[in-house]
Amino acid sequence: MINIAPFVSCKYQPLINFRDGLTINRFIPPRRKDKVVIVIGATGTGKSRLSIDLANHFSAEVVNSDKMQVYKGLDIVTNKVTEEETCGIPHHLLAFVDPNETFTATDFCQHASLAVDSITRKGQLPIIAGGSNSYIKALVNDDIEFKSRYECCFLWIDVKLELLQRFVSERVDKMVKDGLVEEAREFFNPDGDYTSGIRRAIGVPEMDEYFRNEDKLINEDALDEMLQRAIENIKTNTCKLACCQRENILRLERQLGWNINRLDATEAFEKKGGESHQAWRRLVSEPSARFVHYFLGE
Ligand code: ATP
Repeated sequence: MINIAPFVSCKYQPLINFRDGLTINRFIPPRRKDKVVIVIGATGTGKSRLSIDLANHFSAEVVNSDKMQVYKGLDIVTNKVTEEETCGIPHHLLAFVDPNETFTATDFCQHASLAVDSITRKGQLPIIAGGSNSYIKALVNDDIEFKSRYECCFLWIDVKLELLQRFVSERVDKMVKDGLVEEAREFFNPDGDYTSGIRRAIGVPEMDEYFRNEDKLINEDALDEMLQRAIENIKTNTCKLACCQRENILRLERQLGWNINRLDATEAFEKKGGESHQAWRRLVSEPSARFVHYFLGE
């Protein structure tokens, strides 16, 4: 019997021919990896908007990768996409975890893998979108199972930092008008801390001093000053977050050698109304769609 199995490379699988006992090799083509699109970017850059634009174009479903939006509650504070904004596109891993639980990067990998698998089985394209770069790194770089099954196309929406920081500060004012204070009050616990669950979200710890004092008989002006200080701190911390997230993306690109397609959305943020929409289409959604078409081999 000639056994040539020791010469088998990973692309070949030994096959025993039972008639003459000969071991022969059968060529097994490498398993084609399924494809996943990943939308990253700092807070406020428009990741949800782009993922919905792409989902409408490619028949896709969205998997959230924002570590605060996985929790139930604080929809305004964490800036969750509204039912109307989803345009009927299924969104996974959004508002499904108890606000007091701690949801880890490992939990994210497990849930995201299941969601991506179920989307792929339906013949749809999975789009993972969110700002938590540590979750993306854990899934794409550290999860061997995910790495072996999927090929990823990264889309990074970038906006000039000064402009983005102005935008996110104005967004905080809008959140306050929409009910940020009332939402955060529901999570105020004078005996609790801000180290686990949804209470870590920017917008909750900053309100602590104000909530501790609002029932006390202190003068209205002093209380209002506390509120204004809290709002300013929310703005400052959101601006810091945007800066850190941008630096983290640059680090991932440099250290892990990811091939990230950068889309500069600055002009869409500089312009207003229709001109802003046109710039978004020209600079973000259309080039992204081209990247994805190419990635899918279409
Ligand atoms: P890090 O390792 O710094 O936590 P990360 O990539 O894992 O980075 P980020 O998404 O950048 O996570 O979140 C960092 C912190 O910013 C969170 O712990 C939370 O305090 C705050 N944060 C993030 N996303 C939101 C959000 N949508 N709403 C409010 N706060 C947020």
